[in-house]
Amino acid sequence: MVTLEELQVRTLGECRYDSPLADYVASRTTNAYYVAETDRVLIDDTISLLAARGETPLTEVPSFEPGGPRRKIFFDPKKTKVGIVTCGGLCPGLNDVIRAIVLELFEHYGVTDITGFKNGYAGLVPGKSPDPITLTPAFVETITDRGGTVLGSSRGSQNVPQIVDNLVHREIDILFVIGGDGSMRGAHAIAEEALSRELDIAVVGVPKTIDNDIPLIGTSFGFQTAYAKAAESIKGARVEVEAAIGGVGVVKVMGRAAGFIACYAALANHDADFVLIPEVPFNLQGENGLLATLRKRVKERGSAVIVLAEGAGQDLIPASRRKDASGNTVLGDFAGFLRAQIARDFKDHDEPLTLRYFDPGYMIRSVPADAADSVYCTRLAQAAVHAAMAGRTDMVIGRPRHRFAHVPISVVVKNTQQVNPDGDLWLSVLESTAQPFDMS
Ligand code: ATP
Ligand code: MG
Repeated sequence: MVTLEELQVRTLGECRYDSPLADYVASRTTNAYYVAETDRVLIDDTISLLAARGETPLTEVPSFEPGGPRRKIFFDPKKTKVGIVTCGGLCPGLNDVIRAIVLELFEHYGVTDITGFKNGYAGLVPGKSPDPITLTPAFVETITDRGGTVLGSSRGSQNVPQIVDNLVHREIDILFVIGGDGSMRGAHAIAEEALSRELDIAVVGVPKTIDNDIPLIGTSFGFQTAYAKAAESIKGARVEVEAAIGGVGVVKVMGRAAGFIACYAALANHDADFVLIPEVPFNLQGENGLLATLRKRVKERGSAVIVLAEGAGQDLIPASRRKDASGNTVLGDFAGFLRAQIARDFKDHDEPLTLRYFDPGYMIRSVPADAADSVYCTRLAQAAVHAAMAGRTDMVIGRPRHRFAHVPISVVVKNTQQVNPDGDLWLSVLESTAQPFDMS
């Protein structure tokens, strides 16, 4: 449970400048575009949740600072210099976020000095990457046609004081970090270092997680595009196994700690017989185990498709000791183990088997965002720019409860968002696949 205190967003100081949009808004009879600084977005969105808080006044229950444009802003748009960096793995929509930040800065605020740092945090350390580039509306005009990130990315730790030295040297006022949990930890470290030196540098994150596993930000950008792409592979697997004798398809999708892609992709067209996710333990052996249940399903229906989140079943194989450049554990090959177990089990029971394996992993990450995600990226980016121009720092932009909100980085990196095995999403999956409630 997160507290109201933990959700307080840090600000650089008093907002003394009029928003450049003021004249436009003033020409209307309403000021509704501007966020009321006293308003809050509630975490609880049902009567029962609120009732469980007892007599606590609404002003004291956990709530977020709302996102959106402010009447008064902290930075003088005429003098503001901005940097943008993308870090970690690829995800659909990175270029949409970059483009929308640039356009919002230029068109809404008249901020025109925007630097794109290359290759993640390495690009913020002088001499470690190609020189930064200048971002303009012309430069970003067509970047959303392709997936990936026009700025490049990287992993591996960098020296935070050196990064801040470089920001000071380049007179950067605002740094936008688009990246995953590690990137947000980095952004937090940069913001802390800047605050400890009493520098007026805002660090604002647009959190990226293809697995949708960052808490308190609602759905992450690119997630919808990702699961739609994964659903295509599941559909392909269904066609393949239906045409084969004893057809079994295993489709591995992204999802290290959270099985959201597996669940949504499986639900997209009801083509999956089993969904295996890290949150719900299962056994392979035994009467209720996956292998016996799979054999039964193939006997009854002629074929079966298993959708496997990459982090599922890790407890059934030896723990991996490998780490990537950023120190994240590299998962063990459960998909390979599972295929071998299925092959052996069908052989032992003298059942015919045609086993097909599908791994759409990198395809899912590298495609451009679909229209809905492009819209989402644009709006997240606009809200991130509003937050930064209003002097917010050490925060990310999110959309919990379908409202744009400012969330301190420290609370989004504290936990992982996961599929609730007792929640309605997992129930939908069980209903759609008709897999046993318990295979443990
Ligand atoms: P993904 O989830 O796609 O892997 P990520 O942002 O989590 O994205 P990482 O490689 O873990 O990817 O981290 C991105 C960058 O953030 C790396 O350069 C890493 O060194 C840096 N980073 C991670 N944690 C910290 C930290 N605590 N302080 C400073 N930098 C950090
Ligand atoms: Mg990560």
